[in-house]
Parts: sequence; structure tokens; C-alpha cells
Amino acid sequence: MQFYKEPEIQNLHASTFVEGRQSLERVLPPGVSNDSFQRVLDAFRSIVGTGNTKTGDDLLNFTDPFTPNNQFTPSAAVCPANIAEIQAILEVANKHSIPLWTCSRGKNLGYGGAAPRLKGSVVLSLYRMSHILEVNEKLGYAVVEPGVTFWDLSQYCMDTAPSLWPSVPFISWGSVVGNTLDRGFGYNMVGCHYEHMCGVEAVLANGDLVRTGQWAAEGAPTGPVSRQSFGPSVEGLFVQSNLGIVTKLAIWLQPRPESYMNVVVHVHDFEDIEELLEAMAELRRDEIIQNDPLLSNVIASALSQGVAKRSEFQQSDGALGEEAIEEIKRKYGLAYWSCNFDFYGTKEMVLARLKKSQEVISKWCPTARLDHRLFEGEADQPLDPKVIESVTVKGESVGVATVWKAGMINYALPDDGSGHGAHSDFAPLLPFNGRLVKDWLQAAKSLYGEHDFDFLLGGHVFRRHFIAIHQTMYNSDDEGQARRVNRLMDALEKKSREYLLTNYRAHLRQMDILQDHYNFNNHAYKRLLQTVKDALDPRGILSPGKQGIWPRGKEWK
Ligand SMILES: Cc1cc2nc3c(=O)[nH]c(=O)nc-3n(C[C@H](O)[C@H](O)[C@H](O)COP(=O)(O)OP(=O)(O)OC[C@H]3O[C@@H](n4cnc5c(N)ncnc54)[C@H](O)[C@@H]3O)c2cc1C
Repeated sequence: MQFYKEPEIQNLHASTFVEGRQSLERVLPPGVSNDSFQRVLDAFRSIVGTGNTKTGDDLLNFTDPFTPNNQFTPSAAVCPANIAEIQAILEVANKHSIPLWTCSRGKNLGYGGAAPRLKGSVVLSLYRMSHILEVNEKLGYAVVEPGVTFWDLSQYCMDTAPSLWPSVPFISWGSVVGNTLDRGFGYNMVGCHYEHMCGVEAVLANGDLVRTGQWAAEGAPTGPVSRQSFGPSVEGLFVQSNLGIVTKLAIWLQPRPESYMNVVVHVHDFEDIEELLEAMAELRRDEIIQNDPLLSNVIASALSQGVAKRSEFQQSDGALGEEAIEEIKRKYGLAYWSCNFDFYGTKEMVLARLKKSQEVISKWCPTARLDHRLFEGEADQPLDPKVIESVTVKGESVGVATVWKAGMINYALPDDGSGHGAHSDFAPLLPFNGRLVKDWLQAAKSLYGEHDFDFLLGGHVFRRHFIAIHQTMYNSDDEGQARRVNRLMDALEKKSREYLLTNYRAHLRQMDILQDHYNFNNHAYKRLLQTVKDALDPRGILSPGKQGIWPRGKEWK
């Protein structure tokens, strides 16, 4: 099935989702007979066309390739091209009580890909709605449909609006809308996507079309530029939720600076994390650092530089030993931790930020090494982000879309390349307290050791908190490994309860249990969301189970 027009991305999609995969078990939506379901599929076909109603092996494109055990298998996928088709699909789904699972490009890997939380749901994939509706160079924003990828937006800006650098994540095959709605992030100054969205348009379960914020005023010129609103802000109702189907989103883009500098701070030992984080927190809070630094441990740094393979460093099973870790450090010139961030502005501003950073870092971590590299436009020409990307391999800091970092997931595959690379994420939030973060990371690292997995961490340093993204790389064809990963994820969840931590994003498998952490006043938050859900979606057809919110009165779990 042709998902992307760019051959490189289409091949990556096919090798990740389809090639070498077993056919899926055939399932029906819960409580729906085969005959009724055939009538539903016929109705969908009459709305979107036969080619855009997917069943059989085509459904592999709409799964979680990292959990290939039929646990989250859809019954079908339906791919509308416009709002009218979405509304017609909703009418059918409401009439027959068919659960739909909305995704945009469905690349939510580590958190469930395109697969539904409720087995047998129909995936509502919006990948065909792929228009960039507006890019405004003067005001620095874009308005996009759900099928627009980061790749599309980056190419568009380079060709048509070169004074703007969009935020892009590590792999640019995903949807700007999908990633933003799941609170994903990129790495430049507008990298925290949901902080930089400015209005959504959404279809509700009853087919009504709404716009939020200033967009709610027909034709208002402030729609995509002002987050000030009149009355309650309801934009958040569509973030990580199952309350609507987002059909447009406005997102802010970063202006191209005169000069750019990439900075990497290295500290030698695991224990140095406490002081490193205190330094980063101070610099980020004081806005000396303008983007959210990426903190990586030695394995994560090696992966993002050159797509390392674990078998190069250790043949035996079990977590990588000290010798192997030292070998990685030597090969890639790394310390145990590195923190990567960037400066944007005039040369004077960039150098002033560097000077202040050097002072703060040497105060907290006197033995840290700091590498930096300045880029300026040549001969009065503006900065060329492609040149920066070719030198630093950090396209994600300068708005250049790439997909080669997808190779990271093959880290744990055997030497002969057999199997399918996969990873599972566990992502708790921590306040900036260097000691607490160090204690948590130490506890998590011990759990990795006990479960025989390599401890890999790529964390994000925000102004007042830190997200620890624990990535576990494995071969999803190896059932034993896949089971062990689940045990490790459960152990991390249990341990995080002891620390009173909550996660910002969750894999389908852990959505209910992580929702359970939000337990103030006997789960008042969940009750509120369920009340809103029941009011907006009385038949409970939109993404049941998303983030652990289920429609009341249905026996669907
Ligand atoms: C090696 C690797 C590196 C990664 N690096 C990053 C990274 O740097 N940054 C990052 O953020 N993530 C990263 N990820 C995770 C993930 O791949 C991305 O977040 C990806 O962009 C999510 O997929 P998508 O954009 O296609 O969203 P989708 O899968 O389409 O959507 C995500 C979720 O949002 C909701 N949703 C989507 N569309 C709609 C809609 N129209 N209306 C209502 N709800 C909707 C659904 O609940 C859906 O499950 C990485 C993954 C891997 C494997």
C-alpha cells in the first residue's frame, strides 16, 4: 500500500510495518456480528471508495509493529479524504456502535503505532488529508491537515518560506498534527509542539465541526497567531484525548537566525548527572538556553550519532557490561552523559549565551567538557540549514527533516540482521531536583540490569522539569524478549509509583494503569473526563480507552 510519495520513506514504512510480518488474525468490533460488519464495510466503501477501506493484509499498515501479537489488532481501516467523509463515517459508526481509533500518520512507535487500544476497533487514518493550507513567513506559523508530515512541512519551508525553520522530531515520517496531539516534541526553539499549537479544528462525535481559540470567530485574522482566548480554553480537550477528530491545526514555526551554534556538554560518570541537571535547569530557566536540551546517556548518544549496533560491543546476552560501555565511549569520543542544545540569534548574542553557559557549567560541573560549533551564513548569505545538518547530523535542531535515525531501532538485532527492531518507551516526568532525578535513574538502571536490558536514556530538559525517556530496544520477533520487555515496563511503572511519578505519554498496554496514577480525590480527574466523554460521545465510538478513558456503560475492556 502506497503511504508516502517519497520512495525512501515509503520503503522505511514498508520495512517497518509490512515486510516479513505474519498475516493478522481476523477480528470483529466487539459485539458486532460478521454480517453487520460486512454492511458497515460496504457503507464505508460507499463513502471513501473500496481502495480506501482496508482489510486483510493491508491492515498491517495500521498496527503496532513493535507488538506483533494480535493484542491490539484492528478489524478494518478507513481513510477519508475530507471532512464530509469523516462526518459520513461517524454517522455509520454511531448507528452501528463501531469503535473508531483516530490516527493521522500512525507512526506513534514506542506508544502503539497506529493500533487501537480496543481490539477490533476500525482505524480512522487521516493520512490522505495532507494539505499544507498556509505558511505565513511574516507571522511564523503554518496551518496543516493531519496527513502532513514533518518531512512535507520542512521541504515546503525550504522551497517556499526559507526564513522559517519548522520543528522536526528524530524521524520525520510522522504527522505534525498527530505528534502535536500526543504531546510529542522536536528540538529547536518551538520544539515543545503542544506549547506552540494555536487553534485546532475538530469534528465531534455527532459530526459537528468546531474551531477553538480565536479561530472560533469566523474569519478573525488572529486565529493562528494568538493563544489568548475568550472564555475557557478548550483546545486541550483534543490533546491526548478521545473527544474529537482534529482536521486542522495551526502551529508556530521558528524564524531562521543570523547565526547558529550547537553545544554539547559531556560529563564523565553516571553520578555526575545530579550537577549536570542542576546546571542545565539554571540555564534553561533563565532562558540562556533557548531550546529544550536533550540529555543522553552513552548508548543513546552513540545511537543518535551513528546508529550503533549492540553486537559490536558485546556478544553475550544481559545488559552491556562496563567494558562494553567503555568501548562505546572510546569509539564515539563520549562521556557517560552528554547534553545537547543550541543557540540561535546574532553572533554577538550566541557568543554571550555561550560565555554565560560556560560559567554556569563550570560552577556546577568543573570537570565537564564543552564542545561547540558556530555557523554563520557565507558571504552575507543566510544560514543554510542543510549545510549545518551535513556537518552536525542534527537536522532536528535546524528544521531539516530526515528519517535515517529510524535505524536506531535495529540496535538490538542479531549480527545477521534477522528479526524486527523495536523499542518500548517509559517516560516519567520529574521536577528539577538533581538528587531526585539521580535516585530515580539509579533505580531504573538497576531494573534494566535485573531484566537483562541495556539502560538507554534520552531525556528532555524543560524549564522546570525533566522527562526521562527510557527506551528499551529489542527484537520483536523474539517472543521471550517481548515478554521480558513487558515485565520491565511493569516494574518501571511499579517503581515510579513509589516515587509518586506520573508519565506524559503511554503505550496502549499501559494506558489504564498510568491513568490510575492521577488519583487525587479518588480519581476526580478521570470522572471529569468521563463526564465530558459521555456528553460529547454518548455512544462511546471515538478511540475508546485512549489514555485510560473508557465510555461509561460499555463492557469493552
Ligand atoms: C527511533 C524513534 C525516534 C523517535 N523520536 C521522536 C522524537 O524525536 N519526538 C517525538 O515526539 N516522538 C518521537 N518518536 C515517537 C513517534 O514516532 C513520534 O512521536 C511520531 O511523530 C508519532 O506519530 P504520528 O506523528 O504519525 O502520530 P499518530 O500516530 O498519527 O498520532 C498519535 C496519536 O495522536 C492522536 N491523534 C492523531 N491524529 C489525531 C487527530 N487527527 N485527531 C485526534 N487525535 C489524533 C491519536 O491518539 C494517536 O494515537 C520516535 C520513535 C522512534 C521509533
